[in-house]
Amino acid sequence: VIGVDLGGTKVLAGAVDRGGRVLARGRRTVRGLDRDGVLAEVAAAVREAVEGAGPAGPPGALCIGVPGLVDAGSGEVRRCVHLPLEGLHVQAALEELVAVPVVVDNDANLAGLGEARAGAARGSHLALLLTVGTGVGGAVIVEGAILRGASGFAGELGHTTVDLDGPACTCGSRGCLEVLASGPALAVAALRAVAVHPGSALAGEDAVTGARVTELARAGDPAALAAAGDVGRALGAGIASLVNALDPDVVVVGGGVLGLGELLLEPARMEARARTLAAERVRIVAAELGEEAGMLGAAMRAREAVGA
Ligand SMILES: [Zn+2]
Repeated sequence: VIGVDLGGTKVLAGAVDRGGRVLARGRRTVRGLDRDGVLAEVAAAVREAVEGAGPAGPPGALCIGVPGLVDAGSGEVRRCVHLPLEGLHVQAALEELVAVPVVVDNDANLAGLGEARAGAARGSHLALLLTVGTGVGGAVIVEGAILRGASGFAGELGHTTVDLDGPACTCGSRGCLEVLASGPALAVAALRAVAVHPGSALAGEDAVTGARVTELARAGDPAALAAAGDVGRALGAGIASLVNALDPDVVVVGGGVLGLGELLLEPARMEARARTLAAERVRIVAAELGEEAGMLGAAMRAREAVGA
């Protein structure tokens, strides 16, 4: 089977055998492309993975994770902030290009599935996944299966409200986790912290990114460390609401901002513990599968689709 993880900047395809081993990978860049361009690059990444797998034979199914709100039944993308795919029936469009049965799902749902079956949430009864990067993706995995909800859109954990009157979010709400605990939020928090820590290396820098703040925090820069603490606390407050609602045994945190490691996770744990009713049992841990989580989860979903 083929697992595909489509992100706002790049696409990763993997040809995966029955034992879950990745036989070959294909990678392409999709940033700035139009709809047809994105689909063409996805198809090219898939071909690269299939050809790399060599004698394994043609794949039985393909599952692709898309960064947006996806109707898992029809394969239609309902909302997609980072790529021009809104309204597209990805399933039909991609089947024409790759001649393999296609299943479409939300990217974070698939990363959650990967972590629950083969990563940091192995053996869990109820796992939450938060991918903290440019935005915040989420998934709820119950006994190793994606929780869908009444209309198929469960798991949008990044739009949990943390601050009633906080900054505007792309979803139309305000003060969501996505605007308070993401890569861009880290940069905003760091620039704010420079006023208190004028000796920071960030003083005088104008194009600050989450990656730059992460690098400086690891080097001990005071403003960057303060920002990591602020973002960690916001993340913990969001996690607390989710823990109170769902009582998971594990919360897995992945995504680019996790380059901060414990500098992010420790304040998140403290804040979550202070705001939950029965949090002693909940583990808040780093993801284990890294950038392959979504691709591996997609391959698992594809295997289910062909019943093999
Ligand atoms: Zn939102």
